[in-house]
Formats: sequence, C-alpha cells, structure tokens
Amino acid sequence: MNVGAFLALVAIGTGPAEATAPSSVVIATARGETAIPVAVEFGHPALAAPSLARVLPVTGLLEDSWAVVTFAGQPFRFLLGAPVMELNGRVQPLVGGAYVVRDTLFVPLQWLAEAVPRLFSEGYRYDPFSARFEEARVTRIVSSSPSGAFVPTGSGLKPATDRERENGFRVHHAVVLDPGHGGLDDGNPGLYLPGGVREKHVALAISKDIRAALERRGVEVIMTRTTDTLISIYERAPMCQADCDLFVSIHVNSMPRRSQRNIRGMMTFFIGDAVTEEATRVAQMENEALRYEADYVAAVVDDPLAFIMKDLQTNEHLRESAQLAELIQREGTRVHPGGDKGARQSRGFIVLRTATRPAVLVETGFATNQSDGQFLSARANQKRLGEAIADGILEYLRQYERRLLGDHR
Ligand SMILES: [Zn+2]
Repeated sequence: MNVGAFLALVAIGTGPAEATAPSSVVIATARGETAIPVAVEFGHPALAAPSLARVLPVTGLLEDSWAVVTFAGQPFRFLLGAPVMELNGRVQPLVGGAYVVRDTLFVPLQWLAEAVPRLFSEGYRYDPFSARFEEARVTRIVSSSPSGAFVPTGSGLKPATDRERENGFRVHHAVVLDPGHGGLDDGNPGLYLPGGVREKHVALAISKDIRAALERRGVEVIMTRTTDTLISIYERAPMCQADCDLFVSIHVNSMPRRSQRNIRGMMTFFIGDAVTEEATRVAQMENEALRYEADYVAAVVDDPLAFIMKDLQTNEHLRESAQLAELIQREGTRVHPGGDKGARQSRGFIVLRTATRPAVLVETGFATNQSDGQFLSARANQKRLGEAIADGILEYLRQYERRLLGDHR
C-alpha cells in the first residue's frame, strides 16, 4: 500500500474530526494574533504545546506516561497516546489524546476548543467556523512560560545510527521480541515437531533469527528471553516502553482435534474488536501460560481503572498494530508453504493487552499439521521465516517513519 492510501485509511478510521480539522488555529489575545499550525499526524487535530505556551497561560510537564498541562493554573492531565483527559479527578473521553513527537508535546485541539472555554467561560471562547480561540475579557496580560518547560522524558526520537541510515532510516528504532513460553511452560507439545522439540524451542529459534536480521540493519532488539526460562506473561509486553517502537510475540499454533490436522498456515493477531471464534480459541490457548503464574489471582484482580486506561491506550495503537500484523503476514507468507491465514483481531491475549506500544502475536504455523511441523523444524526454514518476519517489521518501521516525519528527505 502506498503512503497516500494508508493516510486515507487513517482518515477514514478516525471519523469526521480530521475531515473538519483546520490547517491552523488563530489565538487572539490582548497582545495580538498568532496562527498555530494544526498537526493531524495521529488522525486527530492537535497543537504543539510550546507554541500555545508562547501566547497563552499554558504550561506543560511530563510525568511518566502522563502530560500535565495547566491553563491559567488549572491542571489537565492527559494519558499519553490515549484518548482521555482527567480534570479535577474525573476522566473524560476525547476524540484523540495528547502525544509526544519530535521532543514536542502535542495537545488535542478538542481540549482548547471545548474543555478550556467550558471551564473558563467568562474568559475564553472558541469559534469552530473561523478556527479562532480568543480571550473574551482581557483583564491582565498573563506571562507565558518559557518553551523550555517542555522536556519529554524518554519519548523523544533519537537520530538513526550509521547502520540504520545505510538502510534508509532517519530515526533510531528499538523492538522487543518475545519468544513465547519457556522453562516449565513448554507451550504446545509439538505433535509434528521432532522428538523433544516443543513450541518454546521453535519460538526461541525463530526469534533469534528475527533479531539477527534486524540487528544487521542497526535496529536495536531487546529479547524477553534468550534461554529456556519462564517469563510472566504480564511482564513481556511492558518491556516495550516509550523508547521502543513495537512488540512482537512469536508462537506455534496447534489444533485440539485429530480431524483438524489438515489446518496449516501462518496468522498474526492484534488487539481489536472484530473477534472470531478461532481467535478466541488461540487466545485461550496462549493464556494457558497463566497456570505458571505464582501471583495469578493477584494479577487478575487488578485496579479496574488502570485496566480501562490500558484498554484505551491499546485502542490508540490498534491501527498501528493492524498495519504491523498485515506486513508481517505479507512478508512471512512469501516463504511459508502453509499459506496465509491472515491478520486477525482478538481481545483475549493477555500478552498483548498489557502492551502500551503497537503489539502483535505471530502464530508461525501449526505443530499439529505434518507439513507445517516439518517446515518449522528445519533450521534453514526457521532462518528464512525469521528473516521474512524481520522484513515485515522493517517495512512497518519505514512506513511509520514516513507518517511521522513526512516523505521529504
Ligand atoms: Zn504459544
């Protein structure tokens, strides 16, 4: 898909907000008028907070995954990347959230156009038709904060390494690879894998091949495990935080019944609402790793608000994850003889639900199918598949860069 088509898809996915987004907003105060460009790179109109701080009583501060933006002393809290805002202890939904790009905090236009005038109804108003935000009653000239107040912690883009530049990248990328299962948790028993070989072994081998292919291009890779050890499924995706672009979990599928041994091929899951019975089945199977969680009960009885917030944050990454899943399927099935079982949505995978960055889970084939089992057992095939999956990841990173930075070089 070309960039234009992808941007068109992004626009469709976000509804009317972007269609009606002005190219700039005029801020009118006693000191004059300033036009501030509107950014739409995340699909909803947003404004650079430092630009606002030059003309309005706005300050910004980043605290972990939150941005605290004050307007005339009133704090508004934004969970970065999630379409929510907290005001006086109440969480309110937004069309799109605040985010940090190019070391700059962007706040949603909706905040300035709706939330601020609602709270300061005597002092400010916004006219959506002329995209004009104005001080209604000027009683004093407020001093703006220095733009240096906006210093992001860890969310900024880093310049590409030499190796990355040679491979056409402009910013540095880091990826977390997660070989499924490990240690006590064998994963599926691997009916058609050679004696003693289990899902966990194949997942680790392919993950190491993906790592090698990515590192050759200068992309930084963090593995959740590099040996046969058990890692909690709650701790895997959180290894991909602000400095990390994406999370990829590698698995081998299996079917429960003898009559299903003809089922083969590769599929990639991401969190979404269009759930099939098949997706639910695979999610339940992968969640079986819960059996090995010592703190199983404690982990499930989580803070309900925190869980809702995680859900919203995941939604923000749905389009990114879908794109990543499509590209991994496209490249992977070029070398996989079992065919393309598609990029699929599910809400059930705990390992994906705990992600705060784009995240997918790749089922590299069926150990219950003789042909897939043989393919996945051969070292040369693992390497070919690992390199193909890496190609999908690299293509996603290229497209992500183009969306973030524009196509000009
Ligand atoms: Zn698995």
